[in-house]
Amino acid sequence: MSSQPPLRLVVKVGTSTLTNANGGVDRGFLSDLTRQLAIEQRKGNEVILVSSGAIRAGRDLLCTTASTPLTLPDTLPYKQAAAAIGQGQLMHAYTEAFAWRDVNCAQILLTRDDLSDRRRFLNARNTLLALLSLGAIPVINENDTVAVDEIKFGDNDNLAALVATLVSADLLLILSDVGGLYPVKPEQGEPEPPIIPIVEKVDAHIMALAGGAQSHPHRYRARATRKCNP
Ligand code: GLU
Repeated sequence: MSSQPPLRLVVKVGTSTLTNANGGVDRGFLSDLTRQLAIEQRKGNEVILVSSGAIRAGRDLLCTTASTPLTLPDTLPYKQAAAAIGQGQLMHAYTEAFAWRDVNCAQILLTRDDLSDRRRFLNARNTLLALLSLGAIPVINENDTVAVDEIKFGDNDNLAALVATLVSADLLLILSDVGGLYPVKPEQGEPEPPIIPIVEKVDAHIMALAGGAQSHPHRYRARATRKCNP
């Protein structure tokens, strides 16, 4: 019988993993993810989830409910508006899925300022630790409706790394549709090069291999019944 000490885990899930081809929340994936997180919690581990998907889910809802063709500009205010709509959808889906496992979840929305100001950093930490002590799973996203470019985390991979530091996590898991760190950028249609299995030291060479935020575009393609501009 293993008697591993409990771990504090931060798990990050990205938009393209969490949403289906139309951009709506992938309920099957969510059910599987929440089941696995509930199992980890039952084993005695503490779990914090960092979840993207709000903007995509909001756009999807707007597009599928529009009675006439809708133009959604690719500008910050419209992304923020979509996030405001989608975040509720996302939390509704998480609350339902976790309820099946008898687990409470809690929404936390953060901006970079919350972590760069010492007092706010400690407040956020205390709240997260209190939630963990209550057996709830915090579901964290960036507070997109107020975060403009200058104060954004960059992306939720960065947010997840900062959250892992905030709560002194033992492990940060990033669930992604990208295979791993490649020695060269995989070309479309070409076989994927073998990934680098372990990075012992983050130096200039490794930094140069890490690109910006990008997911597989095929996840976003199907739009048959939608009433939005592409
Ligand atoms: N906060 C964004 C969203 O919920 C995602 C940002 C990211 O994944 O980089 O849509």
